[in-house]
Parts: sequence; structure tokens; C-alpha cells
Amino acid sequence: MTSSRSTAAVAPESRVCTVCPLLCEDVVVTAGGVIRACAAGAAAFGRLGSEAATAATGAGAARDTAIDRAAALITAARRVLVTGLADATLEGITTALDLAEAVGAAVDIGGSETSQVSGPTIARAGEVTAEWEELRDRADLVVFWFCDPSATHPRFIERFVTPPTPGKMPRRTIAIGVEPVLPASSTHRHAVLPLAAAIDAARLIEAAVAGIRGGPLRADDEAIAAGAEVVADAIAAAECVAIVTTRGADPIGLGPWSTALLVRAITHAKPAFEIPLAGGIDGGANLAGAAAICTWRYGAAGGIARADRGGGPFLPAECDAVRLIDRGEVDCVVAVGRLSPFVEAAVARRAATIGLVRIASGDAASADPARPSIRLGCRSLLASRSGTLLRGDGRRIVLGPGLAADDDSMAAVLADLVARVQACLQTRRGPT
Ligand code: SF4
Repeated sequence: MTSSRSTAAVAPESRVCTVCPLLCEDVVVTAGGVIRACAAGAAAFGRLGSEAATAATGAGAARDTAIDRAAALITAARRVLVTGLADATLEGITTALDLAEAVGAAVDIGGSETSQVSGPTIARAGEVTAEWEELRDRADLVVFWFCDPSATHPRFIERFVTPPTPGKMPRRTIAIGVEPVLPASSTHRHAVLPLAAAIDAARLIEAAVAGIRGGPLRADDEAIAAGAEVVADAIAAAECVAIVTTRGADPIGLGPWSTALLVRAITHAKPAFEIPLAGGIDGGANLAGAAAICTWRYGAAGGIARADRGGGPFLPAECDAVRLIDRGEVDCVVAVGRLSPFVEAAVARRAATIGLVRIASGDAASADPARPSIRLGCRSLLASRSGTLLRGDGRRIVLGPGLAADDDSMAAVLADLVARVQACLQTRRGPT
């Protein structure tokens, strides 16, 4: 499905919530409370005061000293990994990659696609996706494919599934998986299946859509066949189908591959698209932006062995952040914003044998045990009034213009760090 990736307008009185990749741009913060945000978003706006105070400790001379120390640690390292990135604006990500290129660092955003053995799904099977507004305005059938968006993208259903379609066409929903997602009703069904059945179910539905008669089923396949039949019948009756998926940990990558093929099979008969919900409340608000900029520069969202605009080697499941750290192939990690729990655990496993430079807002960094570690505080993304983000479906969200009023933003701190690293490298090379 082609769609023009557009920019969402943010009303002057509204704020953008940057807690999850939904990037709700309709939130209003008043003295009496936070309007329209979910509980996680409202709680984050409530914490802003203490975050600003923490970031302020990194200002002025203290910030200059910390940046000098960080530049010295980075330039003294044998090999650096730049990771995180999903909590930064596009401008901040771009600057972080300038840093990676200056020192020939490995780059990985810590996402699932670059750590799975088979590599990114889009490279193997293609993807038919759409903006979330297309689901809202066109899909008369929404299938929640072994996922519950309420847990990861809390307002997704409220904003894009619950509203009626413009033509008042009734929208039906099906949850296939363990979670019912919505209460049972005349327009919602739940096909109960364990996650382990997801690939078999996708293949059975794909066969039904393609009109291929399957062979006899084993007894333990009966439940999978029954669940698949519910979804296949609903697809046959629908005019436009949206399949909502998540991209979780999948060491091989067969799960996203099977749903990509299923969606492609449906498109031969009727409009259909996948809505892949990556990340979530714990995964960084600008995961789509980090993946997009890395792809523009290096051809992939991570697994980049050496940042080089002339062609950095892309090695999925080999140069992802966790494997590089666990194998001891990097001795310094530049953590831009929050790290995924897997990457955070890998850093912890290396204890004092790895240097760490964290660029993060007040409450994003956990306590670091004894190791060469430097923390550069910056303004919370939630409080930023400058920069651009990409929503999970690629739509641009502009926080505000110019960096002048945001000299403690992550992008500004990174720009200072790049300048200091380049100065250190120049000093080492000596006069030219
Ligand atoms: S759904 Fe996500 S972006 Fe929207 S208010 Fe909740 S946490 Fe914030």
C-alpha cells in the first residue's frame, strides 16, 4: 500500500507525548492535570519537574568537564558502539551518527530485526504497511495478531480502531492469540491460541486465502485450524483488512516473515496491510526515526559493523549491540537515551571492563556500577520544544523549530560531544 508520509499538525495549545511511538500530539497540560494522555503519559508529564532539575546539574562548567571526559574515553577506546538512539530527535540521531563516523564505531539501535538470524523482514519478504489513519478510515476488519496494543501503545485502539469508519461501515475486530484485547461483543471475536501457534496459523490462513486445500490435520493441530478458520472466514467477508502485529524478540525471524507473506496473499484479492507496532512504552518514542536515519545512511537499521557513509558492513545477528558487547568486541558504549532491557543487561554483564557514556535525561539512566562511566544530562524529550520525530508509521511529528531555546537538548549535548571528539582526534594526529 503506498501512502504519502505526511506531517501531523500540532495545535498551539497541545503538547506531544513522547513516552511511546504513538507520539500523541493532542495532549493538553493544564494546572489541573493532563488531558487526553493515557496513564503512562500523564505520569511522565508529572515527573518533568524532577527531570529538569537532574538535567540542570549537567550545565555550565560541569557539563564542559563531563564532555571533555567523555570525549577522552571515546577516543581512547579500541572500538566504540553507538546504541540507543530511539529517545532522540531526528536531529539528535543524525549528530550521534556523526560521532559514530568520526571514530568508526559500530551502530545498532537495539531493535529485534537486526538481531534475528534471518535479518530484516522487509529484505526477505517485503512489507505492505500503511499509516495508522488508513486503518482508521478504511479497514472494516482489524486483526490483532498475537498482540495487545493496549500494553505497548496505550491509546492506539482509542485513536485508530474505536472511531467509526467515515462511511459508517461497521468495523469488526478479531484478536488471535492469548489476549482478548477487547471485551466480547457482536463486533469482536477472540480466537484463543498460544504464541507458539502463530506461524502455523499464518500459513493456514494464507493457504485458505489462496484457495489451497490443506492435507489432513494432526489432532494437536485442530485448535490451530479452528482459530485460523475464524480469521480466514472474516477476511473472506471483509472489504479492507488491517493486521496489527508487534515486532518482539524473535531469534530467527520466521514470525514477521509469515505475517508479511499472509498480508501479501490477501492483497491479491482485496486491500490489506500490516500495521507493525514496534517498540512501545519501553522501546523509545522515536524508534521509527532511528531505524529510518540508520537505513538512509548505512542501508540497515542496525547491525552496522563500522559506521561509514561509503558503505558500512551490515551483519545482522552478528554486529547487533548485545552480541558485540557480550563477545567483548567493543570496549566503550555510547548510550544515546534509554537502552533496551537486553542491551542494558549486556552492559551490566561486562561490569568494569567496558566504558560507558550515557547521554540521557533525568530519570532515564539507571545506576552504573563501578566502571569508566560518564553521564551527560540533557533535557527530557517530553520537555523539548525543538526537533522532529517519526511516529511509528513514519508520519513526521515536529516538536518545534530551531535549537536556540534548547541548548540542553540531547541534540545540543551530542553536538558539543562531536566537536570535542573531533578536537581530540585532531590533537592526536598532530599538526597537518
Ligand atoms: S499512548 Fe503513548 S504517546 Fe499517547 S499519551 Fe500514552 S504514552 Fe503518551
